Amino acid sequence: MTQLTLDDYENGVRRGDRALLGQAISLVESSRPEHRDLALELLARLLPATGNSWRVGISGVPGVGKSTFIEALGGTLTAAGHRVAVLAVDPSSQISGGSILGDKTRMNALSTNPAAFVRPSPSRGVLGGVGLHTREAILLCEAAGYDIVLVETVGVGQSELLVSEMVDTFLLLALPLAGDELQGIKRGILEVVDVVAVNKSDGEFTDAAKNARQELQAALHILRGGDNEPGVACCSALHGDGIEDVWALVAKHREHVERSGTLAATRGQQQLHWLWSQIEAQLAIAVRADAKVAAMLPEIEQQVRELRCVPSQAAQRILHTFLGL
Ligand code: GDP
Repeated sequence: MTQLTLDDYENGVRRGDRALLGQAISLVESSRPEHRDLALELLARLLPATGNSWRVGISGVPGVGKSTFIEALGGTLTAAGHRVAVLAVDPSSQISGGSILGDKTRMNALSTNPAAFVRPSPSRGVLGGVGLHTREAILLCEAAGYDIVLVETVGVGQSELLVSEMVDTFLLLALPLAGDELQGIKRGILEVVDVVAVNKSDGEFTDAAKNARQELQAALHILRGGDNEPGVACCSALHGDGIEDVWALVAKHREHVERSGTLAATRGQQQLHWLWSQIEAQLAIAVRADAKVAAMLPEIEQQVRELRCVPSQAAQRILHTFLGL
């Protein structure tokens, strides 16, 4: 990383310089202590310029068409005068050691669109876990003047729930499947979605998509019926059809949130959640780095592996050592 000063970062982000925004995001993702201090100072300076975007999470299984959809949606939104930032939370690097989101060339048109910023997935092994710095990246994008921030993730592990905790509208992309196959969508996800888009509604899949839409709407009606029942629309990201219909549902959800006056409270809760996940992550890092803990760790881990010591008890011993109790 080049030696940029705090002022360089701040001014670059504020004037919406995409290269500097990218470097600022790398800075907040860096695990080096001196970078961390600079990153926190930068975020503190930029804080008053944040919060002005609509944050949208976009999730779905690999192959459902997330990249294609974001490319199409980004084109539509920028043509309508919006500035669109795209971030990604990629849990696959932790689970499989590889990356589902990051390794392909994605969103070519959007990447070169001057009204858009597309951030590739963070490099593997970013200290402190999946998506830990995505919230900070959202703030940086907002300070850079992006009024729509899209946060993409795959339906693997806990990443969807994690992303639903950092956005204002959570959009699930579904495949035109039916019956049991459709029920494969985790129930927990249907509890947090705000909008569902049945993608690939084209050619031979058109009827299947309509059926899937009806089935999903019926399921959501039972689960989430009321004045804010999540809407379901069909689209074809590949052909650019129905993208406006999906976005209209996002806009409707936004309107509902703004009318009901719950945005500040929801974001407040999310920020508290963020606080505690940071405390947990930073505490774990500090515990691992502690010399006394490091000295006892190999033996305790061995005992835990062989279940000669209950993990909860081992955790307590480690924490007591860390705290000097
Ligand atoms: P991701 O893994 O969810 O990001 O999915 P991609 O956007 O990479 O798309 C996976 C595959 O599905 C690609 O071959 C796309 O061309 C195809 N695809 C995406 N959207 C559509 C669509 O609306 N209709 C059809 N027929 N294919 C699509």
